[in-house]
Parts: sequence; C-alpha cells; structure tokens
Amino acid sequence: MCIFCKIIKKQISSDLVYENDTLIAFKDIKPSAPVHILIVPKKHIESVIAIEAEDKNVLGDLVWRGKILAQERGLDKTGYKLIFNCGRGGGQIIDHIHLHLMGGWDKK
Ligand code: 5GP
Ligand code: ZN
Repeated sequence: MCIFCKIIKKQISSDLVYENDTLIAFKDIKPSAPVHILIVPKKHIESVIAIEAEDKNVLGDLVWRGKILAQERGLDKTGYKLIFNCGRGGGQIIDHIHLHLMGGWDKK
C-alpha cells in the first residue's frame, strides 16, 4: 500500500486539515511554503498521467477543495499556487495523485 493510502487509512499519522467521503487534505511533512497542504483523493490513482476519463471529476474536486482551503486561510488575498507534479520528470515522488496548495508568502 502506498504511503498516502496509509495516511488515508490512518495507519500513518498526518496533520489533517480536511476530510470528506472522497478526499483528504493534510499538511506537507516538509513544507516548501508557509502554507503547504496536500489534497489527495481517497481512490488510489497513480498520477494525472494515469487518470482515465471515468475519474476525471477527481481533478475538479481536488482543485475546488484547494481553492476553498486557500480561501479559508485568507490566501485569496495574496495569491497561491495549486500544483500537480506529474510523473518523475514532473517532480512527482509519491505515486498517488495529490494537489499541492502553497502560499502564505508575504506578497500583495
Ligand atoms: P510530489 O513530489 O510527489 O509531488 O510531492 C510529495 C510530497 O509529499 C512532498 O512535498 C513530501 O514532502 C510529501 N510527503 C512525503 N511523505 C510524506 C508523509 O509521510 N507525510 C506527509 N504529510 N507528507 C509527505
Ligand atoms: Zn495510494
């Protein structure tokens, strides 16, 4: 089982910030920004590269949740990044789709 599936099943602890029936969000263990949250579907899908049409709504759900989590933290005032790393060449290390929400830099 992959590390994010273990986090989803609470076999590994994480700093959870949101959970519903289909996705969870938790703080990145090694943050690259003052706010760095990973938004992860509960269904194990390896990558954006691997996603099939039948699961395409997952992508919208992750982005929508990223927007809401950003808004709740006031990041809509300053701006933020929503990033999918796709495959090794795209910087993906964990082979379970996740959206990075990064922000909190002091910019106007
Ligand atoms: P990727 O490079 O695959 O897009 O990003 C994987 C991210 O997962 C990295 O930013 C890394 O710090 C984070 N990460 C890896 N293992 C764990 C873990 O066990 N717990 C948490 N919270 N984050 C992790
Ligand atoms: Zn997984």
